[in-house]
Amino acid sequence: MRMVLLGAPGSGKGTQADLLKDKYRCAHISTGDIFRRNLSEKTELGVKAGEFMNRGELVPDELVIGMVKDRLREPDASAGFLMDGFPRTIPQAEAFGAMLDELKTPLDAVVLLDIDEEILVKRLTNRRTCRACGKIWNLLSIKAENKTVCPECAGELYQRDDDAEAVIRNRLKVYHDQTSPLVSWYAKIGKLYTIEASSSPDETMAKIQAALG
Ligand code: AMP
Repeated sequence: MRMVLLGAPGSGKGTQADLLKDKYRCAHISTGDIFRRNLSEKTELGVKAGEFMNRGELVPDELVIGMVKDRLREPDASAGFLMDGFPRTIPQAEAFGAMLDELKTPLDAVVLLDIDEEILVKRLTNRRTCRACGKIWNLLSIKAENKTVCPECAGELYQRDDDAEAVIRNRLKVYHDQTSPLVSWYAKIGKLYTIEASSSPDETMAKIQAALG
């Protein structure tokens, strides 16, 4: 399976990629995760990307495109991939198309996770990530009294710097201005599946699987 997950910040791309990668046995490629890893390791790429990420802006296309090109050449991606957070601009989509042509691996599907904006803001302000296992949680759905640790592995839960409300509003604006044009771009080539994504992760995954057949 070679799939792009498209959708605004907080629409559930990372959560769905995590669920779907086991089903389709393919690589989960999250450009945001790669940048965050580089940022925490203070690599040159991470330091450059961090300036943009902290403001809720997009990292320049040339940095992202080079990074994805390298990632797609890693062995696990040859079995297929779920792209989470890439492409995010028309130039990225063009470069991605050229990479896939070169690798002779056409895209199977682009899944748009469609969701109301106020639900997104609520989700993002309550989003926490486990420092140990990387799993994404929503504070409102954690039943345990202690909401500072991961319910699965007891690792520390942290809030991403760019999930502060002012940064979230900017990320949503950036999505509308720069990423949403990709919806009609992919609709035109007949690969777009639009999925209503306000329900639970399992229900949304079931809808995606039903749509893809
Ligand atoms: P995400 O985890 O996908 O929400 O990404 C977090 C941040 O990383 C974004 O707000 C951008 O600053 C940066 N980023 C991730 N993917 C891309 C991309 N494809 N193009 C540009 N910037 C990106």
